Order: sequence, then C-alpha cells, then structure tokens
Amino acid sequence: MIDHSDRAGWRRSTIARQTGTEIGVYHAADAGIDDDPTAPWATVCETHSTVVLHRTRRLADGHAADPCGWCQYCRAAVDGSPLCADDGEPMDRRGDEWVCPQCYARTPAGATR
Ligand SMILES: [Zn+2]
Ligand SMILES: [Zn+2]
Repeated sequence: MIDHSDRAGWRRSTIARQTGTEIGVYHAADAGIDDDPTAPWATVCETHSTVVLHRTRRLADGHAADPCGWCQYCRAAVDGSPLCADDGEPMDRRGDEWVCPQCYARTPAGATR
C-alpha cells in the first residue's frame, strides 16, 4: 500500500497494472490542483504529473486503473510512440509518419527512437 496521507487532499494511490505508473486520487480543491466545483475529484498520474478531473469520486477511482485512457505519456509508453524532440510531447501516428500534436514536427515512422 502506498501512503501519501501527508499530502493535502490525497485519498488513495494505486499502481496501474498496464503501465506500472503510480496513480493517485485526490480531492482537487483540498490538494490545490483546481477548484472547479463541477469536477472536484482528480485522478493524477504521479509519474507524468498528468491530471484529469471528474464529477464524482467513483469516476476518479475508476480512471485510476486505466491511465492510458487519459495520460498521453502512459499511452505513448504502452504504444511505443516516440516523444517530440522539441517539446517532449508524445507523437501521434499519421499514416507512415509521427506528428507532434503540439508543434507539428514530423518523423518518418520507420525512424523512431
Ligand atoms: Zn502517465
Ligand atoms: Zn513538438
């Protein structure tokens, strides 16, 4: 069991089986992540500092097991997508090349790192 009870807003943490990354569930406002009253619960990829907000604790808990659905870095790790050399964004496969969604840099899919 991972215990981060010293962290504000922390509720639970888990290791996602598919990616091996640590995922935390937080009360967003208490944790200082955000204070969107319509989405007070946060699922956080601790490895990549990716945050996704939810309306209910149940949704936040549900997403903890599946970071590939919302953390683009976890998805890239599982898919084997290259990261953009300029900004570190996971690149999207477009036909026979990879395209960075951030700066639109292109890499031929044959020449991935
Ligand atoms: Zn991640
Ligand atoms: Zn880029």
